[in-house]
Amino acid sequence: MTTSTTSLTDRERAVLGKIPAQLLIGGTWRDATGEGTVAVEDPATGLEIGRIADGTEDDARAALDAATAAQPVMASLSPRERSDILQKTSQLLTEHTEELALLMTLELGKPLAESRGEVAYGASFFWWFAGEAVRLAGEYKTSADGKGRTLVQRQPVGPCLFITPWNFPLAMGARKLAPAIAAGCTSIVKPAKLTPLTMLRLAQLLEEAGLPAGGVNVLTGNSARAVTEPLLNDPRLRKLSFTGSTEVGQKLVEQAAPNLLRVSMELGGNAPLIVFDDADLDVAVEGAFMAKMRNGGEACTAANRILVQRGIADAFTEKFVERMAAVKVGRGTDEGVGLGAMVDQDQLDKIAELVDDAVAKGAKVACGGETVGDVGHFYAATVLTDVPDDARLLEEEIFGPVAPIRVFDTEEQGVAEANATEYGLIAYLFTRDLARGHRVASALETGMVGLNRGVISSSDAPFGGIKHSGFGREGGAEGIEEYVDTKYISMPLD
Ligand code: NAP
Repeated sequence: MTTSTTSLTDRERAVLGKIPAQLLIGGTWRDATGEGTVAVEDPATGLEIGRIADGTEDDARAALDAATAAQPVMASLSPRERSDILQKTSQLLTEHTEELALLMTLELGKPLAESRGEVAYGASFFWWFAGEAVRLAGEYKTSADGKGRTLVQRQPVGPCLFITPWNFPLAMGARKLAPAIAAGCTSIVKPAKLTPLTMLRLAQLLEEAGLPAGGVNVLTGNSARAVTEPLLNDPRLRKLSFTGSTEVGQKLVEQAAPNLLRVSMELGGNAPLIVFDDADLDVAVEGAFMAKMRNGGEACTAANRILVQRGIADAFTEKFVERMAAVKVGRGTDEGVGLGAMVDQDQLDKIAELVDDAVAKGAKVACGGETVGDVGHFYAATVLTDVPDDARLLEEEIFGPVAPIRVFDTEEQGVAEANATEYGLIAYLFTRDLARGHRVASALETGMVGLNRGVISSSDAPFGGIKHSGFGREGGAEGIEEYVDTKYISMPLD
């Protein structure tokens, strides 16, 4: 554990000083109509690092007024103009990597190297959709009976509401904003109150990149429901895209139903990671480490259950524990830190509770298994073995640096255990047998599979889940489909 800093450096103050405790509505930064602001804290030190505006229902309506007014402007931009804005945004994000990474580390706690990685990942969505903006094609053909001409046109769906989680403060917004802008949609973004600062900076950079006023509007505040409910009930809103917990996603789907809103849901996960006897041991250990520890385990894609075939179980466990035990825990801004603070006390308590539950039921702690230090919300990189069937962490998202290992015998057993969850976001599998790789990847009930890879998120591929992990896809050629309506126009041949 490294020593925590108890005050902000000049550099940190300068970066934080750029972020206004205001809302962006119709191209103007303005105070919320209500009283007060909400504090944002550094989870590594407990220090207040900023304040955000506490948006109200009136502010939400004003944001939708602005998004609705700007919709024709956005729709009338040429594909090339939209592409140029996206390209410029990608470039600005890249140029501001150090500043954005520091901001993200201060509000989320993860190590700077990981925050830099998220800036690159977020920027890549603007780069990717800069290309897609000019390739959004329709169709023109002779009708099947030969008597008519069929024209299929793609039009922007209209004003969108984006609700994003705290765990990837830049990328989760970027995955929605980039395709929406490419398609010609305006939007209102509601970032999580624990990590809203990076999104506010992204909005400034979108303005700098030339996005028309009202093209993006940002609402922050203490009560998510206060600013989102009036929007979901308003017929001018045409689309909701949510990333967050399954529980909140279910509520939002219900709220969106009366308005028959188009909805995309990127929800929770309970990823299995299967290591077969024939896996390359080093590849499997490194893949499992990445799948577990990216973002400190605070990721929907995090390996939640590590399922190892008996023949390789001892060798895998020994090497994996060695890798996990070597992780340096500390403030994300400190040199050499591999695991930063968890986002808040609730998150830390939940992780500790899940580990304690498993241990009380018979699991063994191979490394970690405890909180670290007195200041901030730190938990050690942890491996549990002999995890019993009824341990809660096999069913619940851990969202922390805790890896439960389970042993299985046959391929069928491994696949059955992997699929024994209500979630279906991602699964990982490690094998050197190509046929088994394809067979098992097809049998896994998830929207995504990492085959001999522990990290697969990429702006050029469709990210998303099935079952209780949601529906809709972000990234890839599919990503823009979430933001267009298809219109069929029929006309006579002559
Ligand atoms: P969360 O509690 O569901 O919150 C997500 C967002 O929804 C936040 O902006 C939150 O605002 C807002 N919210 C909460 N209650 C709401 C309500 N009643 N009405 C409208 N908005 C509401 O999730 P989280 O704890 O931030 O994020 C962790 C979860 O996200 C995990 O389950 C993780 O698996 C999932 N996730 C999924 C993906 C994916 O792509 N599938 C990616 C990342 C994360 P406040 O912050 O202001 O409360």
